[in-house]
Amino acid sequence: MSFTQLAKDRPRLLIVGGGYVGFTVAQELQKRIKDSGGVVTVVDPNPYMMYLPFLPEVAGGNVSARSAVVPHRQHLKDSEIVTGHVLGVDHASRTATVKGIDEGETFELAYDEIVIAGGSVTRAFPIEGLAENGIGLKTIEEAVAVRNWVLERIEVASLTSDEAKKRRALTFVVVGGGYAGTETIAEIEDMARSAVERNERLQVSDLRFVLIEAMGRIMPEVSEERAEKVVEHLRGRGIEVLLNTSLDSAVDKHLKLINMQDKSPAGEFDTDTLIWTAGVQANPLVKNTDFPLDQRGRVRTGADLRITGDDGPLEGAWAAGDVAAVPDLTGGGVGGFCVPNAQHAVRQAHQMAKNILAARAGKPLEDYYHENLGAVAGLGLYKGVASIKGLPGLPAKGLEFSGPAAWAMHRLYHGYAIPTLDRKARVFTEWALNFVFGRDTTSLRHTRDPRTRFQTAAGKAPEPRKVGL
Ligand SMILES: Cc1cc2nc3c(=O)[nH]c(=O)nc-3n(C[C@H](O)[C@H](O)[C@H](O)COP(=O)(O)OP(=O)(O)OC[C@H]3O[C@@H](n4cnc5c(N)ncnc54)[C@H](O)[C@@H]3O)c2cc1C
Repeated sequence: MSFTQLAKDRPRLLIVGGGYVGFTVAQELQKRIKDSGGVVTVVDPNPYMMYLPFLPEVAGGNVSARSAVVPHRQHLKDSEIVTGHVLGVDHASRTATVKGIDEGETFELAYDEIVIAGGSVTRAFPIEGLAENGIGLKTIEEAVAVRNWVLERIEVASLTSDEAKKRRALTFVVVGGGYAGTETIAEIEDMARSAVERNERLQVSDLRFVLIEAMGRIMPEVSEERAEKVVEHLRGRGIEVLLNTSLDSAVDKHLKLINMQDKSPAGEFDTDTLIWTAGVQANPLVKNTDFPLDQRGRVRTGADLRITGDDGPLEGAWAAGDVAAVPDLTGGGVGGFCVPNAQHAVRQAHQMAKNILAARAGKPLEDYYHENLGAVAGLGLYKGVASIKGLPGLPAKGLEFSGPAAWAMHRLYHGYAIPTLDRKARVFTEWALNFVFGRDTTSLRHTRDPRTRFQTAAGKAPEPRKVGL
């Protein structure tokens, strides 16, 4: 079916996904394309761009959910916004199949040029019990749920006489020691500690935190030496960091671990909280397109960000970010390709916007080239780690920081990097308010079942409360 409300007679640049790449490309091109009689259409099931590096701080209660997202309609005013899923793309006929969210209709959307910017999804493994009992940390909703859940578990534990139940409620596990997992365990430890300090029935020593990592080190984004210091720091805070360890099963929230080196059992225990941050994979939506994919399911591009198959670049088709295999011309990437991070995504988006305009003007395209600038990570209030590289005047191997200086760099960098002045102001204001009034450790308990009170008032027995993440 055709959809009457959408622009029909204007040449369309269709952007699939309004995250880092999609939002940035739309921001840069929307006005120009509109002024020249065309339209930029952004399709995304979320009406906002998620600033993913803030998810651990949202889970830890230092940034509120709405400050960590950038609304499309408010900040992409010259674009056509479609809140729906792209189900597939047939580039041969320049058509995408789109479905509106929830009970929305499915329709075909014609385009002239397309940007594939659908990002990545959590990569999980077929571990028994994981799907039933785990949660990822790839969406704002997951981060909010984790925060509320951790705070609720503390309340539950403080009122039980059952020692096993208390231990399970106060054991928090993160699987995956990249920056997302490491920041998450550190942020929730910090928050849980504050919450327990306000609860006279519990001791900080009742809390247990476990970070599980299959490799022999955490945080591949910083040097090995710095990563070892982070492990030392986390262990100093009482967080158990289990290296060379993997999750074998999680049936009924009973975790069994294995040693990755000799495959021997590496312990077992119960937990109510299992957070999975062990990697990402390209959004599988691209399997439903006629674009060339690599063996890891990413869209193949040239260094100029045009989608490129065996016969060369495709006309009018671009891709970047986590969904794309973009050659890393610095030679520093894994397997010759850019690693999936925001540093690349946002810079690729800027280069792509330039190349889209150059291609339209018949000018030569430029290749994407970016030297890694290092990484900053927050590990809870006043704690962090930073590795800064590639800036003029710095030694070739860069500089590394930890403690309050690194934490300040993390905050300054991300507070500045979140798009739009509006969001920057909200984030810095929240941090300032938390500094003055302390961290808010209240959980919004009924977000999972908001109708319970009304159902009771209306004389209907409420549905049983779902307990679990
Ligand atoms: C917890 C966490 C912390 C991180 N911290 C850092 C950090 O500190 N530094 C760093 O450099 N990187 C960090 N990253 C990685 C970084 O956020 C990603 O590399 C970056 O977001 C990739 O940008 P993207 O535009 O490719 O994808 P995204 O920003 O994920 O955008 C993809 C968009 O596509 C949309 N979409 C999905 N399916 C469809 C569909 N069917 N149709 C239409 N749209 C669709 C999504 O809703 C989303 O808006 C972090 C990631 C996570 C999860």
